Amino acid sequence: MKKILAVFISLLSITLTDCGKQGESSSPLQSSQQDSISVFAMDTYMTVTVYDGDKTAALEAAQTEITALEKLISVTDENSDIYKLDHNGGKPFDVSYETSELLSFALDMNKKTDGALDITLYNVLREWGFTTGNYKVPSDETIEALLENTGCENIDIMENTVTLYNNVSVDLGSVGKGEAGDRVIKVLKENGVSSALLDLGGNIQTLGTKPDGTLWKIAIRDPSGGEGSIAKIEVADRAVITSGGYERYFTGDDGEVYWHILDPKTGRPARNGILSATVIGKSGRLCDALSTSLFVMGEQKAVDYWKNSADAFDMILVTSDGRVLVTKGIYNNFTLYDEYSSALRVEMIE
Ligand code: ADP
Ligand code: MG
Repeated sequence: MKKILAVFISLLSITLTDCGKQGESSSPLQSSQQDSISVFAMDTYMTVTVYDGDKTAALEAAQTEITALEKLISVTDENSDIYKLDHNGGKPFDVSYETSELLSFALDMNKKTDGALDITLYNVLREWGFTTGNYKVPSDETIEALLENTGCENIDIMENTVTLYNNVSVDLGSVGKGEAGDRVIKVLKENGVSSALLDLGGNIQTLGTKPDGTLWKIAIRDPSGGEGSIAKIEVADRAVITSGGYERYFTGDDGEVYWHILDPKTGRPARNGILSATVIGKSGRLCDALSTSLFVMGEQKAVDYWKNSADAFDMILVTSDGRVLVTKGIYNNFTLYDEYSSALRVEMIE
């Protein structure tokens, strides 16, 4: 569904919640007036809210960035770099510099995460129906056969010439929204914005603090299925990105729930004891790549990864046995909601 709809970028033209033109001079209210825009892209609603700077120009630039990125990496838009690469019969193909840079980043993360992040699972994801919404549980033989044609070692990048070997297809769905967030933040800054909140389909990215100087309060969703939130964290200038089994899933005829994040080793939904992985850090695309990866790794590997990683980030893992692991850098800014205090136990990781 995600990939199919991605092509229909319906732009819900700029919604100006700030209608007080008279406040444009030196009104003390100015800084609390917000403008926002909602864009449907990457099969999700993306809302960007800015609180200062040249708001109209900033939001227009944000919309342009989101649309431009989607035009590069969409797997369904026949004119995108990724679509053309995936349909080039394994011959070398010249993509834009930006696409090759993002592909290189994903390959780098594949190595760092020991294969947990794998952008070559597209053929497997399609068989499960996660790309179309026609869900089904493939047979063991089908999955095994499809796994033969996966693996990042089949991607070769020389400058901006990319070659896909062994019939692999790539999909940047695991990092695209984070990359979009980073690009939007860059253009917002260029337009004088110092306070902004991005909600890119559940990926939250913040620029600066709230206009009154206080921290943004970001809710952490209940990953066990409900619509509620288990906790809040308070941050400034950070991406807060969650991967969870509750985001896109179906129930099979066998009564099992199957979700859209696959373990590249098995070709099946990653079921390693983590219900959701939230990553907090400066770079949206890094947090996006890591949230998917940590979800796949499971608790022990995720904790080891956090301890050994050269990249600075914090994480919040909700486990299937009712624990919430919170790394020390965010621990003091983490508040579990009272309703969950008996169901969940918080542990600090240091
Ligand atoms: P979401 O896009 O739902 O916010 P993620 O950032 O975790 O969540 O990305 C999940 C998407 O990435 C899936 O929809 C699928 O397209 C793709 N994907 C699934 N498993 C993996 C994996 N192990 N590595 C990389 N991409 C994956
Ligand atoms: Mg991700």
